Amino acid sequence: MIKVTIFNEFVHEKKEESVKKVYPEGIHIALKNALQSDDITVRTATTETIKEDLSAEVLADTDVLIWWGHMAHESVPDEVATAVMREVQKGMGAIFLHSAHHSKPFKLLMGTPCNLTWREDGDSELVWVCNPSHPIAEGIGRFIHLEHEETYGEPFSIPEPDELVFIGSFSGGEVMRAGCCYKRGNGKIFYFQPGHETFPTFKDEKIIKVIKNAVYWAKPTYRAELICPQVKKPLEDL
Ligand code: ZN
Repeated sequence: MIKVTIFNEFVHEKKEESVKKVYPEGIHIALKNALQSDDITVRTATTETIKEDLSAEVLADTDVLIWWGHMAHESVPDEVATAVMREVQKGMGAIFLHSAHHSKPFKLLMGTPCNLTWREDGDSELVWVCNPSHPIAEGIGRFIHLEHEETYGEPFSIPEPDELVFIGSFSGGEVMRAGCCYKRGNGKIFYFQPGHETFPTFKDEKIIKVIKNAVYWAKPTYRAELICPQVKKPLEDL
C-alpha cells in the first residue's frame, strides 16, 4: 500500500464562487477521490489543520506528499516546510502541482526563486510528452489537450531538471517546462504545471494518470537519514 498525503491550502474554494463551482469539496478531496485505489491510500491536510495533519509523525508515515498552494504560501509554518524538506532528503517522494512552484517547501528544495511568467486568459494548452519512455509518461500518448489552463511560461527560474518529462505549449505562444523531475538526497520530486483552480484540470483522466504515475515513480525505495560518520581506522592496514 502506498501512503499518500495531499496538502491543499483550501482557501480559493471557500472564497470564490468560480472555484467552488469546479471543486465544491476542495481540490484535495477531488484528488483524493481520483487517486485512492487498491494500492494507494490517501490522507489530506489543509491550512487550518496543517500543524496536526502535516506533523512530523504524519510526514514520517507518508510515502508521497502532494502539494497544491497558491494564495496562502506564507501561512505555511517554516518548521513544516523544513520538515518536508528533511523527509524528502531521507526518501519521501513529493509532487508539487501548478502554483506550488512558489510554495515554501518547493523553494527550499530547489534553492532558486522558482519564478515564472504567467497570464490568465483561459488559453488552451497542449502538454507534450518529451520523454515517452519515462514512467510518469506511461499511457499518455503524444500530448494532453486542456481546453483552458492558466498560461505559465518561460523563463522559469528552477534548477536544470534531472529529467524533463513534459513541455507545455499555450495557444498564446508561451512554452513551459511542465513536468520536471529532481532527486534531493534519497527523495524524488516531480513538479507538474497544470492545475489552475478555476478550471477542471484535476478531472481530466490523463492529468490524473500523470499524477498517479508520479506517485508510483516517487514512492521511496530507500528511506533513512544520510549519515556520514568520521571513520577512525582504515579498512585495511596501510
Ligand atoms: Zn493558477
